[in-house]
Amino acid sequence: MADTKSHPQIADGLDRDPAGFWQPERGAAPPNPVFDWPPRPLAALKWLYNYFFPWNLLYMAIATATWLYWQPALSRCVEFRADWILEMFIRNVVMLIVIAGAWHVYFWGSKRQGMKYKYTTDWMATDSRKFTWGSQLAENVFYSCVSGGIIWTAYEVLMMWAYANGTIPYLDPREHPIYFGLMLCSIQLWRVFHFYWAHRITHWPILYKSAHYLHHRNINVGPWSGLSMHPIEHIIYFSCILLHWIVPSHPIHVLMNAQHAAFTPAQGHVGFEKLVLKGERGFGAASYFHQLHHRYFECNYGESDFPFDKWFGTHHDGSEASHAAMREKRKAAHNIDVDKDVPEPANA
Ligand SMILES: [Zn+2]
Ligand SMILES: [Zn+2]
Repeated sequence: MADTKSHPQIADGLDRDPAGFWQPERGAAPPNPVFDWPPRPLAALKWLYNYFFPWNLLYMAIATATWLYWQPALSRCVEFRADWILEMFIRNVVMLIVIAGAWHVYFWGSKRQGMKYKYTTDWMATDSRKFTWGSQLAENVFYSCVSGGIIWTAYEVLMMWAYANGTIPYLDPREHPIYFGLMLCSIQLWRVFHFYWAHRITHWPILYKSAHYLHHRNINVGPWSGLSMHPIEHIIYFSCILLHWIVPSHPIHVLMNAQHAAFTPAQGHVGFEKLVLKGERGFGAASYFHQLHHRYFECNYGESDFPFDKWFGTHHDGSEASHAAMREKRKAAHNIDVDKDVPEPANA
């Protein structure tokens, strides 16, 4: 990696390399210690705490509230009808705009945190031929709300229709409260498991060239970049919802799974390591692990909660050692020097 020096133009107190990149001191999140051998119980407990608090609990609450207050009754979902389908589509897009919009307005619009804990010194591209209408933000919002909104809602509609017709088993939380709770708690882990494989196959050259290239136009990512995907990729990405076709679940599980897929990319791509509340206190925000994927393409296909990247040799934690390993691999495979920051990935 380039020598770390203070970036002369930016007075934010962070050590930036000459290209303006800042890396958190610990690098990317380490692989989940739950999978370590010999076991490390204290590290595993710390991971478990961070797994739930605060974001996962918040997404569980949103899914529950959606079911209780903003879900058309299943008795209306027996037939595919425009009224309830439209209601769900509008609900989903409104929620996406509120959540992704909040991340965007806070960090990128009003720049409330300035450059503090920002990975790059760039903001959204406003005049780039790479993006539709020349605007990164407009393209990101369009693909998120239109393609993302339609395909996400289509999966939810299919599931609600299947529940209404008894095609798939309905899990009653009063009869199986423990199963219900465990299932709800496991959804984030399932999502990370599914995301690795869904993402990995979109790097297969045929799918990359026809679909995933669109997401990777975003090298400097912002909240709306997260769900900015080609419709083919949305179909693959949101297929995580089909789990509930096979595994007995309650519609809250379906909503949690779908909303987790729809809402967490905004946070993951927010481009700031931390949401600062007071002094240095705050909450972890973006995924630096995934930020490195947008910079280098051929590493970090999943998230560190499920250490597939570690097991398959594509883990990049931001250290000199993992960077050197990736550089050698890419040189051998494509004769490309990653330190020159190639504009397109090798398999594009
Ligand atoms: Zn991404
Ligand atoms: Zn990718």
